[in-house]
Amino acid sequence: MLPEAVLEQAKAEMLDWRGSGMSVMEMSHRGKEYVSIAEQAEADLRELLAIPANYKALFLQGGASSQFAAVPMNLLRGKVKTDYLNTGMWSKKAIAEAKKFCEVNVVASSEPVNFTTVPARESWKCDPDAAYLHYTPNETIGGVELHTVPEVSVPLAADFSSTLLSRPIDVNKFGIIYAGAQKNIGPAGLTIVIVREDLLGQTVAGTPTMLDYAVQAKEGSMYNTPPTYAWYIAGLVFQWMKAQGGLAVIGERNRAKADLLYKTIDESGFYKNPVDPAYRSWMNVPFTLPDEALDKPFLAEAKSAGLLTLAGHRSVGGMRASIYNAVPLEGIQALVNFMADFQKRRG
Ligand SMILES: *Cc1c(COP(=O)(O)O)cnc(C)c1O
Repeated sequence: MLPEAVLEQAKAEMLDWRGSGMSVMEMSHRGKEYVSIAEQAEADLRELLAIPANYKALFLQGGASSQFAAVPMNLLRGKVKTDYLNTGMWSKKAIAEAKKFCEVNVVASSEPVNFTTVPARESWKCDPDAAYLHYTPNETIGGVELHTVPEVSVPLAADFSSTLLSRPIDVNKFGIIYAGAQKNIGPAGLTIVIVREDLLGQTVAGTPTMLDYAVQAKEGSMYNTPPTYAWYIAGLVFQWMKAQGGLAVIGERNRAKADLLYKTIDESGFYKNPVDPAYRSWMNVPFTLPDEALDKPFLAEAKSAGLLTLAGHRSVGGMRASIYNAVPLEGIQALVNFMADFQKRRG
């Protein structure tokens, strides 16, 4: 979901952006109008996340999946080994891609327990020679979230695709944060990268220019034509988030939304969430019904009630409520009311 206020504003500005005579889609990315949009968005992102001055904020393309390769290419810095934590499908994809460029030491894995938890920090077998440690703070498909930032002795690399901007984070604890925008930020096509300056400029030989953070930083994310419209909409989302009171307010709201949904599931004796309560995601809440035969009627009736895209990821089945920032508490209330009603009729 995107905030309705953002969609309304985009609609109002669609044909003529603030008297410029152009739609944002028609602007040159190097024209003064678009440059002002891009700069404002970066400034607002920096303010929301309190990004320190020694970090670059980049607005790129290629999705988080491109970053699976760009992270080792940029952050190996002459080293050959890396540490990766394996907590789910997206961790595995990051690991598979990194193996093309470096030795990957999987410090711990929750795969033996079907990715329903995060291995305790004490159990991780870290390599002191690793160039960085990569993890996935929120596993979008499994609904597993690590709610604290792990303490490690090497730069932390984190795929924040489905949880960036859902709450405040301390950017100082990371070497690099990246996120595809389409989950919690804006439309598809934009990828946010926040990277510490001192890690830049030592890419592995053969790194494509487009994936070289130092080049992108130097060019203000405009080495080539950036995803202008997605960047603009993300900027409107940042303004909306600031108007809501910033990430502390939004984080509390997200916690309340998730609490209500998990409480409903746990107390129902009908719906089930398999995830260790300490690591349940605030953003993606998977749940199952007692009988798979009920999945189709559940989805069809939910749709009639205006509750959309509740099917679980094709790899795991069941249901998944993705309750990103723009989903209001009333949306969760509507969902839990529907769930209770469905249970009464079918349970
Ligand atoms: C969706 C997702 C990705 C893939 O993102 P793309 O932008 O489609 O490449 C990677 N990691 C996580 C955690 C995701 O949720």
